[in-house]
Parts: sequence; structure tokens; C-alpha cells
Amino acid sequence: MIILLKKNASQVQISNLTERLKEFGVDTNLSVGSAHTIIGLVGDTSAVDVDMLSALDIVESVQRVQEPFKKANRRFHEEDTVIEVGDGIRIGGGSFQMIAGPCSVESEKQIVEIAIAVKKAGATILRGGAFKPRTSPYAFQGLGAEGLKLLQLAKKETGMPIITELMDASHLDLFEEADVDIIQIGARNMQNFELLKRIGKTNRPILLKRGLANTIQELLTSAEYIMAGGNEKVMLCERGIRTFETRTRNTLDLSAIPVIHRLSHLPVIVDPSHATGEARLVPSMALAATAGGADGLIIEVHNDPTHALCDGAQSLTPEVFAKTAERVRAILPYVWRDKD
Ligand code: PEP
Ligand code: MN
Repeated sequence: MIILLKKNASQVQISNLTERLKEFGVDTNLSVGSAHTIIGLVGDTSAVDVDMLSALDIVESVQRVQEPFKKANRRFHEEDTVIEVGDGIRIGGGSFQMIAGPCSVESEKQIVEIAIAVKKAGATILRGGAFKPRTSPYAFQGLGAEGLKLLQLAKKETGMPIITELMDASHLDLFEEADVDIIQIGARNMQNFELLKRIGKTNRPILLKRGLANTIQELLTSAEYIMAGGNEKVMLCERGIRTFETRTRNTLDLSAIPVIHRLSHLPVIVDPSHATGEARLVPSMALAATAGGADGLIIEVHNDPTHALCDGAQSLTPEVFAKTAERVRAILPYVWRDKD
């Protein structure tokens, strides 16, 4: 980090600031030039508050040269993180997986039928919401604990590991009981810091979805919350962000894939379903994300989309999912990764 000081900064002010900076556990380097005085900070600057420094009377500007996240940073962990779930299913470091299933678990018949169909098409992990974050309080809120039991049943029937969203830390016991393989933190909770700290104390893999209006750096600092708590099994999910565009539900930020891969060693999963909000757009965006170097996809699939209780418009039928999965597999060998 580089701190440019104002011309009128006195010796006393500079040494007071230097002492204060040392409290953050960093080393300081003072360089006095004819035009400018600069303090360079060396070491781990993640705990240094840039806004606080910028607001000081003697400070002209502050520039970070190192990102404010450490455990998620590729600089300190060169190798790709590989997450393992179920019986040897690997995500990251060249291993690509397809996660598929309905937005919400609705009934035993629905989830088991869909699980069998997506497995046949090549998906290796089953998704399904039990606790649903809905914009309207009157919309279907999910089956709750009963939904978790049905997911467990579908896992027993198919052998597929399951992923489902956690909205409230008080539900963690239920998640343990249902032996949920991957805990999803939804877009709306990406900055629910108490929840992030709590799941940092679990040892289950986490899929952290990017918030509707959050930057890549904010996504990575949220991942840092989980990792700082001790759980380093984190995957990041690009699921579209809010922009001025209204023709699609969100705008899929495909460039987030190589950007995150450059900044971090964590796997990147892309969700073309919530990104577009329209089933017809999902196959092409699934292919684009694959070509862009994603480590996996999470896709909503429903056996009867027109009657789905949640997100039917963006849900693929099992048949369209099967065709999409086939094409994804066909292009995978040709994918060029940012690191390659
Ligand atoms: C979901 O995956 O069901 C979901 C609600 O996604 P998001 O948090 O990305 O909106
Ligand atoms: Mn959904």
C-alpha cells in the first residue's frame, strides 16, 4: 500500500502516522522526495482501513497494491483449490461438474424424478431449495425441513450429493441431520457477515453466490470471511448482476470467470438460470460459461416447468438439459483457461 502525503505534513505528524500504521502489524518505508513524501506499507495490509487513512489531514491519497483478502488470494496459494464432494467428485483444478435440479423441492415424486433424469444426462450433484428467499412474502417459501428430508431421499435413490441454500444459521442442525453435501449461500446473503462467520466454523463445502449488486472484490472478501473462520472449502458462483438491462433477469458477467481465476484459487461455478431468467437463454449461456473457463455449472431443471412453484420460466426440461449437457461435454476439451 502506498500513502502519498500532503506537502505541508510535519515531521511530528508523519512519525505519529507511522507509529499508528505499525499497530496494524505492517512495516513502513518512508521516502522523502522534493515534490512528495510517500509512506510504503510492506506486509499483510488486509486489516488496514483505507478509508480511515484517506480521511486523515496529512494524507493526499492512498493506493492499494495488494487485494484486501488473503486466504482466497492466489498470490498466497498458487495451486487451484479442488473441492471434493460425495464419492470422489472433484470441482476445480481442471475438474468440471454439472449441478442440476429444481429451484425448489416440491414433492418426493418431483425431486426423485428430476434427480434420476439429470443424473442420466450427466449431472453429478443435485440442487434443490428447501428454504427459499422469495421477493414476495406471499410466494411459495419452500418446504423447509420437509424439503431437506426429500432431498436426502433423492440422494439415497440416486447416490448424488446434494446442495441446498442456508438462509438462517439456526437451520444448521437440520442441514447436519440431512447430511447436506454443499451449503449454498444465496445472492441475497452474500454480505450477511454473521452467517458467513458461522459457516466458517462448519466443515462442509460452501457455494457462495455473488450478490445482485456486488463487485468481484466484495465477493472475494465475503469468501474471506468464511475462510478466516477456518472453512477453506469455498466455491464462488457468478449468477448475474443487476445492470440497466431489463430484457434479461440479470446480466451474466462472464468476464468474472477469468478475473476470479486470476485473483483467486477458488473454483468458479456459473448459474445461467438466475443470470438470464429465461429457459431459452440458458443453453447458450451454459456453453459460453464453459468456454469461458468455469469449473462447473448450476442449472435449474424441472420436469414440469409450467407448473413449477418457483422459477419455472428459467427451468429447463430434462430433455433440453440433456442436450445442453452433451454440448457442454463436447466443448470442454477445447476450453482455454486464463492460467493456461
Ligand atoms: C437459487 O439458487 O435458488 C437462488 C435463489 O439463487 P440466487 O441466490 O442466485 O438468486
Ligand atoms: Mn431459483
